[in-house]
Amino acid sequence: MDFSAALLAWYDRHGRKDLPWQQDPTPYRVWVSEIMLQQTQVTTVIPYYERFMARFPQIGSLAAASLDEVLQHWAGLGYYARARNLHKSAQIIQHDHGGKFPDTREALQALPGIGRSTAAAILALSAHQRHAILDGNVKRVLSRFHAVEGWPGNAGVARRLWELADQHTPRQRVADYTQAIMDLGATVCTRSSPQCRRCPVSAGCQAHARNRIADYPAPRPRRDMPGKHTTMLILSNDQGEVLLEKRPPTGIWGGLWSLPEYPGDKADHQGVSAWCRKELGCDIEIREQWPAVRHSFTHFHLTITPLLAHSHDAGISVMEGGKHVWYNVAQIHSHATAAPVRRLLAQLQIQQGETT
Ligand code: SF4
Repeated sequence: MDFSAALLAWYDRHGRKDLPWQQDPTPYRVWVSEIMLQQTQVTTVIPYYERFMARFPQIGSLAAASLDEVLQHWAGLGYYARARNLHKSAQIIQHDHGGKFPDTREALQALPGIGRSTAAAILALSAHQRHAILDGNVKRVLSRFHAVEGWPGNAGVARRLWELADQHTPRQRVADYTQAIMDLGATVCTRSSPQCRRCPVSAGCQAHARNRIADYPAPRPRRDMPGKHTTMLILSNDQGEVLLEKRPPTGIWGGLWSLPEYPGDKADHQGVSAWCRKELGCDIEIREQWPAVRHSFTHFHLTITPLLAHSHDAGISVMEGGKHVWYNVAQIHSHATAAPVRRLLAQLQIQQGETT
């Protein structure tokens, strides 16, 4: 069967054509949308995208903004490395490319946060250049359609999928095809409930023919990851605000707001109190220890012991532009915070609501 022709015919009838980044698809607008869509669903992305574009309509406005402001516009979308890379890349384009978006795949791939598939998607969607893409959706569709064995993260399997992706990419209508294959993966050939009866390429799909759809793509092989532990202090003041601390610009959760972390091995209450006196200059009263929460990074699991504490002491040094802020938990998303911190603050908000 002619895969691309079937897909394009389906796209003409059912494809999405009214998404905000499909209107005036400049490289900049497509780039921002592709980065936002990397780990997030279309419906969640749309309002963020519109706010982001209203504030940073051009590459120059993004490059000139502070990282804090960019992170603030990203707050709630998660995976903040995406926002940091977007900002860094905008500055590189502004300073090293004279504000002109690079128009080759190699130059795009040299920018932070832009891999081969994202570079290809930007050029295909905004400049109609013929490049194959292979994002998560496309990997799933092609793994199933060709019954490709093995985990796509494996280099050999990835190479095979890139070859197939390239073979299917047509010379004509490459932008429509690129959107079509992404749409097929997102709306028809979905991870857990593919709708093969609605699928335009089902007649040639090998996973479907063998009734083995759930076997493709193969999952990542299990591996034991090391574990780390930290104690996070949810410290409130008499106004019911919580102390947030800014993380260093690089490393885990770089540049985000987080909760102060006690560096000791265990959440020993005396040690935490002494540490607060020394580091924050205040006496605290530890009120509760919440059950530990777990957060997984790509290379390790982090177990967080949350300690709820209170300080009547107004002595904590909180300066404009400084490392600490008192945060009103009702103003969710006013500061960019990491996912587990956001969950702890939401839990606190519920608890505060119950006691008022
Ligand atoms: S037939 Fe089913 S498994 Fe095959 S590509 Fe279509 S939706 Fe995916």
